[in-house]
Amino acid sequence: MTGEIQKRFHARSIEDPDGFWREQAELIHWDKPFEQVLDYSRPPFARWFVGGKTNLCYNAVDRHLADRADQNAVVYISTETGLEKNYTFRELHAEVNRFADVLKKLGVGKGDRVIIYMPMIPEALFAMLACTRLGAIHSVVFGGFASHSLSTRIDDARPLVMVTADAGMRGGKSVCYKPLVDEACRLAKHPPQNVLIVDRGIDREMVRIPGRDKDYTELRDAVGEVTVPVVWLESTDPSYILYTSGTTGKPKGVQRDTGGHAVALAASMRHIFCGKPGEAMFTTSDIGWVVGHSYIVYAPLIQGMTTIMYEGLPTRPDAGIWWKIVAQHRVSVMFSSPTAIRVLKKQDPKYLAQHDLKSLRYLFLAGEPLDEPTARWISDGLGVPVVDNYWQTETGWPILSAMLGVEETPRKYGSPSFPVYGYNVQLLDESTGQKVAADQKGVLGIVPPLPPGCLTTVWGDDARFVSTYFSLLKDRKVYSSFDWGIRDQDGYYFILGRTDDVINVAGHRLGTREIEEAISGHHNIAEVAVVGVEDKLKGQVPIAFAVPKNASGLVDSAAYRAFEKEVMDTVDKSLGGIARPARVHFVTLLPKTRSGKLLRRSIQALAEGRDPGDLTTLDDATALEQIRAALQRSAD
Ligand code: ATP
Ligand code: MG
Repeated sequence: MTGEIQKRFHARSIEDPDGFWREQAELIHWDKPFEQVLDYSRPPFARWFVGGKTNLCYNAVDRHLADRADQNAVVYISTETGLEKNYTFRELHAEVNRFADVLKKLGVGKGDRVIIYMPMIPEALFAMLACTRLGAIHSVVFGGFASHSLSTRIDDARPLVMVTADAGMRGGKSVCYKPLVDEACRLAKHPPQNVLIVDRGIDREMVRIPGRDKDYTELRDAVGEVTVPVVWLESTDPSYILYTSGTTGKPKGVQRDTGGHAVALAASMRHIFCGKPGEAMFTTSDIGWVVGHSYIVYAPLIQGMTTIMYEGLPTRPDAGIWWKIVAQHRVSVMFSSPTAIRVLKKQDPKYLAQHDLKSLRYLFLAGEPLDEPTARWISDGLGVPVVDNYWQTETGWPILSAMLGVEETPRKYGSPSFPVYGYNVQLLDESTGQKVAADQKGVLGIVPPLPPGCLTTVWGDDARFVSTYFSLLKDRKVYSSFDWGIRDQDGYYFILGRTDDVINVAGHRLGTREIEEAISGHHNIAEVAVVGVEDKLKGQVPIAFAVPKNASGLVDSAAYRAFEKEVMDTVDKSLGGIARPARVHFVTLLPKTRSGKLLRRSIQALAEGRDPGDLTTLDDATALEQIRAALQRSAD
């Protein structure tokens, strides 16, 4: 039977974590070997590779100088500025050393925090690697975040230095960062002593604050050729802090270690992403998100691959730009998000077929549920297999995925396949704490210890780590993903949505994802969001906001009603009358975070006449206006 090999691989990782991870640890360089694979004497805190010393920057850069100094390490492409630049491993090494020297002269050393608030430019990646070289802890904050969000992160991380740029670019428009940084430093109680600015020459009016603001290019040029010694860290020393995107609640500083992190990423390249040294990987995320940390920066470089760093939209100059990049740089592994593919789906499919994509082995998608129509559309259009994988900022690498480097298992559309090695995944009934049977819904929990690479704690707040993530069950500590899932008879998992997105209609629990999936099965629907809205009779009723592919016929209200009914009938047919949305509103845009996640919570708040909450991560404010207008129209 297929799937047996990956099943055994997974089982071994759970039954013999010591043996399993000892082998994986050979994938990286250790300056000093570890004495103990796992110290789990203080559950749920896991300490991996205790006693070992290593360094992320060394593994990502220096280690490759012997074999691949002249191979491209970073290929930078900006369709915003027109700049394209390649860095070999030798050149990357030189740039990272210069950056490290500049930071060192500003007083940065082991354990110090550095906030990196940057657009997608190579210096952002150099800065991250320079920090890890010095043993400093970076905290990348997505460039363009509002000053308030930036200031709360400053006060939590208390950085010695902030690295920023004059401006970012998006869709041909510039976003000036410097005024946002100044305001954030003004709001913060513990602002950084130094602000290091990479001046791209976009914001010509940029004002510098004497004493605090430093020009990176000036300092870099003064450095010349330099080698900054690698600071060997304990495996358990922190490497970075990344604040969760804040779709839910107050941002938490996800803290990652050094050795476990390096091993987990190296192993994932081999067993999950199947990227080989010398090949190219293209991850379309932003370095400000976890996908960017893991799969633009650390994992491909640790693996000796060329990483493609892209600044720009997927639709400019046209919707073929990504595929052009794949063809030009012979990308073998690509990683993107369902949201991005849904954006492309609104464009002419001809763009998918213009380039030679022979080099591309797989397209990995993560971050949001991947509906079957979108998965089919992109997979058929490109002629490339799509691999859905499920994980979180907290885990840093996939929890559920096919492991094609272990075994070529068939995929099912809509499913991120199986629990990945290292993760003891269980679907749990919240009230009884029992494992649910196949085809039954449950909360996706992970029995600790969490594997290497996952968060080791919440920055500065061990108690919050335990109380937030390990209080799903009363009688034992199990990590909660806060997502609902279901496993079919063949062992394939499906994510149904977040636990707080579950709707209770007359006593029936429905995942918003299930209804969304049904609606997106309609041939004229590009995107949809479903939320549960309070109802006197039924407790809650589902309401849908859908983006039609072709909205030209919908101006007339009779046609609008008819289409609405058609969409409702689609849900009836696949899920039954209980799931039928009370209303389907048609809009041209859905509110999303800048990381491409639907803001269901804000939509729900508006639909229930409440305040939509913190909107600093909202990508496009007009989307929420459309929701408001649609609700208003239906109330009139
Ligand atoms: P915050 O935790 O700050 O509210 P967030 O949860 O949106 O933010 P991430 O850690 O980037 O930030 O997102 C992880 C979540 O994204 C998962 O918990 C899950 O809800 C969703 N997700 C990720 N990948 C998939 C996938 N392949 N299928 C379904 N859902 C996914
Ligand atoms: Mg989350």
